[in-house]
Amino acid sequence: MTVELITIGAELLSGHTLNTNARYIGEQLALAGVALSRQISIPDDHDTIVAAIRESLGRADWVIVSGGLGPTNDDITKKAIARVFNRTLVFRDEILTLLKERYARLGREPGPYLDTQAVQPADAEFVPNELGTAVGILLNDGGKWLAAVPGVPREMRPMISTHIVPKIAAQVKTAIHSHTWSTTGWPESRLYAALELLIHDHPDISVAFLPSELGVKLRFSARGADAQVALERFAGLVRPRLEDALYAEHDTGLEEVVGQLLRDKQMTISAAESCTGGLLAKRLTDVPGASSYVVSGYVVYANRAKTELLGVDPLLIEKHGAVSEPVARAMAEGALARSHTDCSISVTGIAGPDGGTPEKPIGLVWLAIALKGAETTAREVRLMGNREMIRARAAQAGLNMLRLRLFGDQQ
Ligand code: ATP
Ligand code: MG
Repeated sequence: MTVELITIGAELLSGHTLNTNARYIGEQLALAGVALSRQISIPDDHDTIVAAIRESLGRADWVIVSGGLGPTNDDITKKAIARVFNRTLVFRDEILTLLKERYARLGREPGPYLDTQAVQPADAEFVPNELGTAVGILLNDGGKWLAAVPGVPREMRPMISTHIVPKIAAQVKTAIHSHTWSTTGWPESRLYAALELLIHDHPDISVAFLPSELGVKLRFSARGADAQVALERFAGLVRPRLEDALYAEHDTGLEEVVGQLLRDKQMTISAAESCTGGLLAKRLTDVPGASSYVVSGYVVYANRAKTELLGVDPLLIEKHGAVSEPVARAMAEGALARSHTDCSISVTGIAGPDGGTPEKPIGLVWLAIALKGAETTAREVRLMGNREMIRARAAQAGLNMLRLRLFGDQQ
């Protein structure tokens, strides 16, 4: 089964709009065990659309088209589809009735051009659109299928997930099963080295490394009747090799895992941040329900703020510099004491592009964790990248240090 996607819209090519429809459709198909084999974006031009659909139909069993279905687009996609399949465009009374009923239920007057939405290629099914007026198109011709949905993401999503994907999935003989795991702290090369032999010994499992600034997601996929069993067995072999780089056996962020640990241990937390400017507190509070464990975040950029807000001894800053182990420790201990939490984390570093010295280069970051009734721990990391990347990675390293410390204390 091969499926191709054509996303239509000049705004997708100019970079004005991020192609989130491609992401959503690819993801929904993958969840149903179907791999999208090609995706292209093209401008709103009739002849280009006709050529692209013809080309895709030459290769694929299914072609999904998104965009250009609304009346403001002069129904360009409908016309192109009618041309490709050599069908006339017909007015479908039942579609207009349906749309009018919806407006009547809402007690609203329909806008102009409603009747143009009721025009469809002859002998096509229509896909209802619960959130808009541009209905989708579904047609089958000579064993090939075509589905067209509007470009508006909010309207497109339910049409894809409830109507189109189930129809495609029902035609698939051997679905793909996959698991996504989340890792952090190890570069892709180290992960690959740890798994290389396993990957070679298991040609039935395909392994994808999906790196980002925050870590590498690993996706294991297999096809066929035994796929689930094979994946479980493979997972059992991979797990010990990833050591503490593996933080979740699903696709999630570190803040979720840290949040769960804090909730489980009924601990509260505060953060004291210099170079990350609040990013750590932002990540911690990204999790719904974080108010049950996050108490406060201090952004102490200036040395004076470190002293006034957290009680860091100015002599300590003078002697060791703001980016140093003693200052990181004092910041964490200050946050712990002043916000009366069970634990605290601090981060101080040099994000650049200015401020680096040979002893303290750009990317040098000190992290410390203070726990009530326990030793404060500190750690230095040296991060690569530009200012934005260093800040993102510093917050991630802080969350990872918290995870390891909280998890370690559990054992
Ligand atoms: P209408 O003409 O009624 O708006 P349409 O089906 O012709 O509907 P478009 O005009 O192509 O849809 O797009 C409507 C909105 O959806 C625009 O804001 C557009 O940027 C956005 N959009 C279109 N395609 C995509 C896509 N692939 N990913 C994300 N957003 C998209
Ligand atoms: Mg468009």
